[in-house]
Amino acid sequence: MGIPFDLHSSFCRGSAKAPFQIREAFYSDASNLCAENGMDLGKSDKWQDIGDLFLDKSAAPFNDIEQETRSILSRGAYLLSLGGDHSITYPLIRQHAKVYPDLTILQLDAHPDLYDDFQGNRHSHACPFTRIMEKGLAKRLIQIGIRTMTPNQRENANRYRVETYEMRNQNAWETVTVSGPVYLSVDMDCLDPAYAPGVSHLEPGGLTTREAISIIQGLEGKLVGADIVEVNPKRDWMGMTSVVGAKLLKEILAKMLTPLVAKPIEQSEP
Ligand code: MN
Ligand code: MN
Repeated sequence: MGIPFDLHSSFCRGSAKAPFQIREAFYSDASNLCAENGMDLGKSDKWQDIGDLFLDKSAAPFNDIEQETRSILSRGAYLLSLGGDHSITYPLIRQHAKVYPDLTILQLDAHPDLYDDFQGNRHSHACPFTRIMEKGLAKRLIQIGIRTMTPNQRENANRYRVETYEMRNQNAWETVTVSGPVYLSVDMDCLDPAYAPGVSHLEPGGLTTREAISIIQGLEGKLVGADIVEVNPKRDWMGMTSVVGAKLLKEILAKMLTPLVAKPIEQSEP
């Protein structure tokens, strides 16, 4: 589901246009719909593109996001959302936490998004994980890709026992183990600007696309929900970042659907 919402962006807007751009890259004839594990998403009836949530001039967008999420989860489906800015993860998690009380959140991001408030806005895209953790909506919050820690956010990371893997500590995240239901939140600025230039907050020194894919493919536990946020088509170059978003979308979908495949994918003859 697309969530075209960027009103809680602090620096520049534009990510509301991302669902359209990511879908365009996803369905483009320039590539195909096979994930790297061989699953052909174009031939799978296990998932559905339900379009964008209609939020035009909504007085209460978070309520709308929650209502739609509740309805989707109540049907026993998993939800993968395309943002939008990172503020949408809070209403998404509020509903996931009701279905999965022992949820682990894995956040890939340059920023911890753990401010108490940002420029007076408690729902800024710089704050969703403070809102989530202060309400006890996740058992664990694991952050990978972080390279912009501030004193206030470090305080909150300690207070809520957030497991933060900073970029300066190289590949320390490789030792992390997860079990139970997992929600994956991918802020595209987790990637180095060399790989994903179309984001609102360029932060050098980030993950490679390959590292992000490896984290997704190697994820333990059961992936029960995900979002891809903060692609900003207004700042993109040749649609590069939307293409990377579409690639991650394919890999996340394949990861979510893999346990539902009745038999392993057959290897073709050498
Ligand atoms: Mn970020
Ligand atoms: Mn973020």
